[in-house]
Amino acid sequence: MQPRDLSDHVAYKAGRGIEEVARELGRDPSEFVKLASNENPHGPSPAAAVAIREHASSTSSYPKAAHADLVAAIADRWAVEDEQIWLANGGDGAIDYLHRATIEPGDAVLVPTPGFAYYGMSSRFHHGEVREYPLERTNDFEQTADRVLDSYDGERIVWITSPHNPTGTTMSVDEIERVAVETDDETLVVVDEAYGEFADLDSAVSLLQGRGTDDGRDDVAVLRTFSKAYGLAGIRLGYAIVPEEWGDAYARVNTPFAASELACRAGLAALQDDEHVERTVRTARNSREYLRDRIDADVWPSEGNFVLVDVGEATPVAEALQDRGVIVRDCSSFGLPGCLRITCGTEAETERAVEALNAVLAGRDEESETATEVPDT
Ligand SMILES: *Cc1c(COP(=O)(O)O)cnc(C)c1O
Repeated sequence: MQPRDLSDHVAYKAGRGIEEVARELGRDPSEFVKLASNENPHGPSPAAAVAIREHASSTSSYPKAAHADLVAAIADRWAVEDEQIWLANGGDGAIDYLHRATIEPGDAVLVPTPGFAYYGMSSRFHHGEVREYPLERTNDFEQTADRVLDSYDGERIVWITSPHNPTGTTMSVDEIERVAVETDDETLVVVDEAYGEFADLDSAVSLLQGRGTDDGRDDVAVLRTFSKAYGLAGIRLGYAIVPEEWGDAYARVNTPFAASELACRAGLAALQDDEHVERTVRTARNSREYLRDRIDADVWPSEGNFVLVDVGEATPVAEALQDRGVIVRDCSSFGLPGCLRITCGTEAETERAVEALNAVLAGRDEESETATEVPDT
């Protein structure tokens, strides 16, 4: 017997890990820095790490109180109703819930290209189709309502990533609202704000705030995660903020207890730890400025904790960087075979990445110069 026909499904390509690369190259893990998965270079919120240790002995029970407490804390932070918070196993889990709650077989979703692969993967799991709207390199991947609406054709969900991974561009709340207004009543606009903390930009959650009145929109949802600014990628915790009218659907689509006891406890602690988030955001902003100023190649401005770099041909440059101990993301799998994405690291990691990348780029330029100087024989 075989699984169902999965030929339309592709495996998610994660950034490469230090252990994996070190083993493959037969080298010591301590020689590497990983700037490939937009993780937090300061680690988790220390308060979250304490909470995880403290609650280790209560993991024999299903998470109920912790789930309710975290939902209430998040709802409070965003000034929305508790029912509007759909906790999930990572932001990726929340993507699944939104598809489960909307897609009938054959419905389509509209996703950005280049863009985050999991929107399309998840839609296909739910028997949905995937259509794309292009972000154009010639416009520096600018995100406007028109860009989306030009490709829109009645899809059930429109995915907007702001700040966008891997380009770092954003879409203003006004433009997002215009997409919501100009698409059909039955189209949900989901704004993925996985990198929202790093941006100097208002959250689209403002479109959902009604607090019992019917002021909030019923066709916009926002996605957030604890994986990036909060440094909890390994705990798997994220959530969607949905319209008030959608509250009911959560109980029908969620995987029971998918946000674990430790995840909820860690999330609660991390949410109170403003200092850790502020430090993280400061580091990312300094790092992305430095990367942009110092790399000897075109670097796009970014509102995330990463930058996109135009290196011409990503794969050989990423491999050469890896030999020098710096692991970055080859954006070929995002549909940008000429680009690398480099995560903002600590000051030391950022300097090391720039030095290594500039050395690789200089070496390559020298090689091509010598190659052209060699006379024909
Ligand atoms: C990281 C990321 C997410 C969510 O990741 P989780 O670890 O599942 O929370 C969602 N969208 C984008 C664009 C991301 O980069």
